Amino acid sequence: MPFMSLSEFSLIERFFAQRARRGPRRALLGIGDDCALIAPAQGEALAVSTDMLVEGRHFLPDVDPRSLGHKTLAVNLSDLAAMGAKPRAFTLSLALETPREAWLEAFADGLFALAERFNCELIGGDTTRGPLNLCVTVFGDVPAQAALRRDGAREGDDIWVSGTLGDARAALGLVRGECAPSLFDERERASLQQALDRPEPRIALGLALRGLAHAGLDVSDGLAGDLLHILERSRMCACVDVDAVPRSQALRKLPLDAQRQCTLAGGDDYELLFTAPPHAREAIVDAGARAAVAVTRIGTIDALRHATDEPAIAWQDASQTQLSLTLHGFDHFDAN
Ligand code: ADP
Ligand code: MG
Repeated sequence: MPFMSLSEFSLIERFFAQRARRGPRRALLGIGDDCALIAPAQGEALAVSTDMLVEGRHFLPDVDPRSLGHKTLAVNLSDLAAMGAKPRAFTLSLALETPREAWLEAFADGLFALAERFNCELIGGDTTRGPLNLCVTVFGDVPAQAALRRDGAREGDDIWVSGTLGDARAALGLVRGECAPSLFDERERASLQQALDRPEPRIALGLALRGLAHAGLDVSDGLAGDLLHILERSRMCACVDVDAVPRSQALRKLPLDAQRQCTLAGGDDYELLFTAPPHAREAIVDAGARAAVAVTRIGTIDALRHATDEPAIAWQDASQTQLSLTLHGFDHFDAN
């Protein structure tokens, strides 16, 4: 039963359907019918993922709408990257309290700028009134055998991470007043904020890792928790050198304990965490260079000592001293 007013139909048409028609058009049938029709690439599987962003939980009410448009799609594309999949199409479902034109325009600008860069077509969605809530579902192509699953890590694998970790968490720390803004210069504050607002989905790296990496995922909830997902699915343990975990110059301004909290338990990083055999080291560095993103080796995968042991992470520092870390959201984040 139709529940939308005419103005809501014109909202869809003006801000989403028209814009979608300007971008890549690869679907058999796009926006406007009861379903869209897409055909997966010949001989490949369709990778599907969905992520919801809720005001107050995943973003602040005063967030820049262009950044929000970017991030809504970026966090979903990041899941395709983490699977080694190539973006194909996406749907967008949104609840809006009072649609404002300038807000929608900016939101759509951020969304479509990213969609067009990755040749990913908006093929449908749903629009309703309600507290601001955004849900994207992405579809991508990947040969089933080459998908970077979480259950493929093997004993002796290296553990790698792309880019740097922790900046988004530090930006949140600034917003929440957990650390003094005077710790950073203006350029550093801007780059931390950029990490939080504009994560870059590592699509090219995900594609370059096909056939090289044994297991992978994207770091969205913090390295410690996300690595554990790989370990649990693969029934393995890991040893990680916390000093090797890559971090930006800006993050290095924080006290060491706060750096560790940000890089290991921060979240919202959207970098790829993956495992690969040592003989692939050169090829992986090469894959990073081709994808124009740094890749850093941070640890190794070990077998469980006994089949009944629970998968766990052993943390050590650069001098190989074992650390017993308590990872938490920060209450004492300040430099002083
Ligand atoms: P139905 O009632 O059959 O679910 P709708 O009236 O909800 O159809 O939507 C009409 C068309 O507009 C459908 O093709 C739907 O996928 C598309 N659509 C609705 N909202 C959006 C949106 N926010 N972005 C893109 N397409 C949308
Ligand atoms: Mg509908």
